[in-house]
Amino acid sequence: MSNLPLGAENDPYAPWNQKDKLCRYCDKEEIQEQLFKIIALNSTLDDDRIDEVIEEELDKFPLCPQCAKEEYYDYDDED
Ligand SMILES: [Zn+2]
Repeated sequence: MSNLPLGAENDPYAPWNQKDKLCRYCDKEEIQEQLFKIIALNSTLDDDRIDEVIEEELDKFPLCPQCAKEEYYDYDDED
């Protein structure tokens, strides 16, 4: 069922390749949105507590290679 452009299936920056490995920086808003839906629908927490839980869960998401590099190495590493 692939009707993507040639090579697009392997493009790590293409949105269709990212759904299983969201980056907690690059995809923060999308993650928050998804978490909010899950948490709000499955709990009776008040809004403040939901925000806290979302932040906690967000911290558990991995970083993409680009962000991991910036997180753990100097910004002026131009390799
Ligand atoms: Zn990232």
